[in-house]
Formats: sequence, structure tokens, C-alpha cells
Amino acid sequence: MTTTETASPAGSRRFRPLLALAPFALKHKGRIALAFVALVAAAAVTLVVPLAIRRIIDFGFSSEERTLVDLYFGTLIAIAAGLAFASASRYYLVISLGERVVADVRAAVFAHLVKLSPSFYDDARAGELVSRLTADTTLIKSAFGASASIALRNLFLFVGAAGMMVYTSPRLSALVLLAIPFIVLPLVAFGRAVRRRSRSAQDTLADASALAGEAIGAMRTIQAFNAETTLAGRFRAAAEHAFDSARAAAATRAFLTGTVIFMVFASIVGVLWWGATDVLAGNLSVGTLSQFVLYAVFASGALSEVSQVWAEISQAAGAAERLGEILAVEPDVKSPALAAPLPVPPRGDVKFEAIRFVYPARQHSPVLSDVDLHIRPGETVAIVGPSGAGKSTLFHLLLRFYDPQAGRVLLDGVDISTADLEDLRSRMALVPQDPVIFAATARENIRFGRPDASDAEVEAAARDAAADGFLRALPEGYETEVGERGVTLSGGQRQRLAIARAILRDAPILLLDEATSALDAESETLVQEALGRLMKGRTTLVVAHRLATVLKADRIVVLDEGRIIEQGTHAELVAQDGLYARLARLQFDDRVLAAV
Ligand code: ATP
Repeated sequence: MTTTETASPAGSRRFRPLLALAPFALKHKGRIALAFVALVAAAAVTLVVPLAIRRIIDFGFSSEERTLVDLYFGTLIAIAAGLAFASASRYYLVISLGERVVADVRAAVFAHLVKLSPSFYDDARAGELVSRLTADTTLIKSAFGASASIALRNLFLFVGAAGMMVYTSPRLSALVLLAIPFIVLPLVAFGRAVRRRSRSAQDTLADASALAGEAIGAMRTIQAFNAETTLAGRFRAAAEHAFDSARAAAATRAFLTGTVIFMVFASIVGVLWWGATDVLAGNLSVGTLSQFVLYAVFASGALSEVSQVWAEISQAAGAAERLGEILAVEPDVKSPALAAPLPVPPRGDVKFEAIRFVYPARQHSPVLSDVDLHIRPGETVAIVGPSGAGKSTLFHLLLRFYDPQAGRVLLDGVDISTADLEDLRSRMALVPQDPVIFAATARENIRFGRPDASDAEVEAAARDAAADGFLRALPEGYETEVGERGVTLSGGQRQRLAIARAILRDAPILLLDEATSALDAESETLVQEALGRLMKGRTTLVVAHRLATVLKADRIVVLDEGRIIEQGTHAELVAQDGLYARLARLQFDDRVLAAV
């Protein structure tokens, strides 16, 4: 009793992660049932073959029974047709089931990933997540599809063939029983080694791919630093390492194959040998002996397949476990079950009340302390401060990427933690410091701001953002693919595209993280003009790095080490001669400053 109790949880723990994915498979009950029928049919037909062969050997060659000969051979053809049909159906149903399940799992994991809070991504590695989405799901595909079907088919075959062996000749069956361990033992022993080695081959291959992925994304930097040869060398070493592991796996597998072939062959010859003496003694017909040997071949083949597949299913369970971990992560920030409605029409009133905040990934150092800030509808507030002062963090809290540890953020008088997240974010348009451009057409990139916008609206937004001119000059105009991360565009062009996106969004609150990198004078003027049009009539928070922006603001807020230390207009703050005056002298263009 005790042993079963301890053994069964251990076994189920091993495969529990796969069971956790069972709901994905159970959505396709009809297909599973059909696959099962085809599987049983294929195994049953296979088991009929030796019976037919025995009849042919024992009676098929006697000339008196001409009609029987035709019948037997005709039946054999029919059996072949049945086997072919059942096997083809099984293959199609089972493989497509695996593909179906894995496509659903992939989509579910990705849909889950996009809902996770930024805090999750603070310590996640993009490459690893992508590999979970692709490599891990591929392992599961084989478990749900091919491996499960091979295991089941062979289990049926083994049980059926073993039963038929005993039925055909109990004496010979006893002999085979002795041979089985000699076949299975090397399989298990070498199978484990094969698994370990092919696993290490996959890992080293993943390392090489990660290296290549990183390098391809940074080709300009690599070439600028003349690092091509070094990197090519590193990749060659990684690929070589993967090759060594793969070769070791192949060598073990080759040895295993050789051993198994010999063991199976030798044991079958042994049975034949023994059987032949029985046939000579008149105890056994030739047909019966052939039938028995065929069943023995089936049974030993089935057993070896099951043990192979076992390894694959355990591997898939490992992969499923990792995916299960991702699916189990709850977003830190969620819409409340009963969301408080935000006022309609939106006013654009933003209030930070007694905020204290630390990033979850860096608990020891507070990023914002005692921040109180009220921004009235339509007001433009420039946030200024040294690098790392917590300026962008204010945006993160307003967008509710994170929740503060103390204090509240209010939008139009509503605590944002009680509002619906989508509703909250739909009221904001963000222009980040380094705009994200997707590998899509220019038009799609702008439409990202509002997916239901018409072509005319997209173009109007581009005109307002001073992007229409350069977009039309591209080879295919708005339909030009702008390349991954917008590599085919200049810095200023990328910013104007991002501004067009924000204009199209037409949100009451504008969050602008001004780029620190300097643009050439012409781009700068175009970007500033575009921003001016964008800010009109909206509440604007801008992390300012340029004097022109600061001068346009209604109010300047100076942040230092997470605290607001000064507030006022440019002239007031210069007169105070505090941190702002010092920053202004250092950061802003002196000539413009002198002119003010
Ligand atoms: P800059 O002008 O250089 O962009 P900033 O004033 O916008 O700076 P923030 O980005 O708000 O500064 O960062 C404030 C502090 O919080 C910095 O010390 C930074 O290292 C830290 N920080 C920012 N993001 C995270 C994060 N996701 N996890 C942990 N710490 C973070």
C-alpha cells in the first residue's frame, strides 16, 4: 500500500506538466477519438498479418486447393489495403492533432506574455522567452502527436503480439521471455546516454543561435569596431561545439542501433532454431513457426519503440513545465473586477499624491519619494532633472506599468488603480525617447496608434507630424517596409513617425520623453513643429532635454533623486539660481539661453 502511494505521486509529478496542457488537447475530442480508432485499427490489422501468412504457408502451396490460394492472397492484398488506410489516417490525425495543440499553446502563451506587467520583463530574457515559444512547444508537439501515437500503437502491438505468441506456442513464448531483457536492457542503458548527448547538442546549438541572433541585431556596431573576424570565430567555435555534441549523440545512437539489430536478429534466429527442431520432431507446423516468429518480431520491435518514445515524452514534460511556469505568472498590474468609470468626455487632469515608489527589481533604492504634482487640463509641464532622477518613472506610474508602494495617481479625479487598464491607457499617447518602429510598412506603423483609423486619417497625422514628405519620397511611399526597428529610417524620421502615431491616437494626455540625442537643425525644427501641433489642446507631460521645449512649457518641475525640488517658469527658476539654473547652463544651448 505504502509503495503504491509513494510511487504514484512520483510518476504523476513527472508528467503533471503535460497533464496541465491536457485542456488544450481536450478541445479536440472528436479528432482524438478518430485518431484512437485509426490507431487501434492499424494495430489490429498488423496483428492479423502473421495469421494470414501462416495459412498461406501451411495451405497456400497445395495444388488441390486452387480457390483457397486465390482467397488467401486476395485477403492478404485486402489486409495490406486496410493497413495502409488505417496507418495513413492515424498518421494524419495524430500529427495534425499535435500541430493543432501546439499552435493553440503557442498562441495562449504569447497572449499571456503580452498581458504580463513590465515588472516581469525587468528580469526576463527575450531570447529565452522566444525559445520557450518555439523550441519548447515543438517538443510538446512531438509528445502530443507522434510520440503519444507511437507509444500507444506499440503498446497495443506489444500486448496483442505477446498474447498471440502465447496463443500460438506457449513453449516458444517462454523462451522469448528469456530473450526480452537482453534486448531491452541495452536499449534503456544506451537510450539514456543518447538522450543526454542529444540534449547537450541542442543546448550548444541554442548557444550558437543566441550568439548569431545577437550579432545580426548589432551588425553596424560590429563592423564599426572591426569585430567581424572575432565574432565569426566565436560563432564557428560555438557551431563546432554543437557539431561535436551532435556527433557524440550520433555515435551512441549508431552503437545502440547495431547492438539492438544484432540482439533482435540473434534471438529470432534462436527461436527459429529451437522451433525448427520442434518442426522436425513433428510437434509444430512450418506455418505456425513463421506466425510465431512474426509475432516475436512485432513484440520486440514494439517494446524497443516504447522505450525510445519514453525519453521523448519525458523531455516534453520538461518543456511543458517551463511553459506552465510562464502561464502561471499573474500580471502584477490588473484591471479591478469592478472598474470605476473614468469621466466622459475626458478632461485630462492628472494628480500624483504623496507617491513613494521603488522598482520591484531593485527594492533597496527608492526612485520616487513624497511626490505631489497636479497637472491641470491642457497644461504643459516640463520635467527636468539629472539622469536617473526618476523622470521617466513618473510616466511608468501614470501608464500604470507599476503601482506605487504609497500614494495615489488620479486621472480626472479617479484613482487609476480602480479604473479599467485599457480605458486608462486609451487616454494617453506616448512618444518614447527611442521610438519603437516595427518591421512593417510605414502606414501600419502609424496606424498602430489607432488600428481603426482610415488611410486618410493616417496621412493627415503624418502631415501634421511633418512626416508626409519623406514618407512619400520612399520607394513605395506609405507602403514601404521600414525594416526591423526602423533601421532604414533616420533618427529624426523615426521620431516623426512616432509623433504621427501619437497624433493619430488623439488622446487627451500626451506623454513625451524627449530624445537626448541631438538632431540636425532641420530635423530638429520639423520635430519641434510637429510636437507643437501635437501638444495643442492636450495635457502634456514632457521629459525635457531641450531649452525650446522648456520655454514652451507652462511650468517646469525639477526632479532630483526622486523628489520635486523646484517648480516654476524658466525665468523664475533661473532667478532662483538652484539646480535648474545649473542644469540649464550645462545642458542647454548657451546662445539661446543668453537670448532669453
Ligand atoms: P534619464 O534622464 O537618464 O532617462 P530618468 O530621470 O528618466 O533618467 P528613470 O528612468 O525614471 O530616470 O530611472 C530612475 C531610477 O530608476 C534610475 O536609477 C534607474 O536605474 C532606475 N530604474 C529605471 N527603470 C528600472 C527598472 N525597470 N527596474 C529597476 N530600476 C529601474
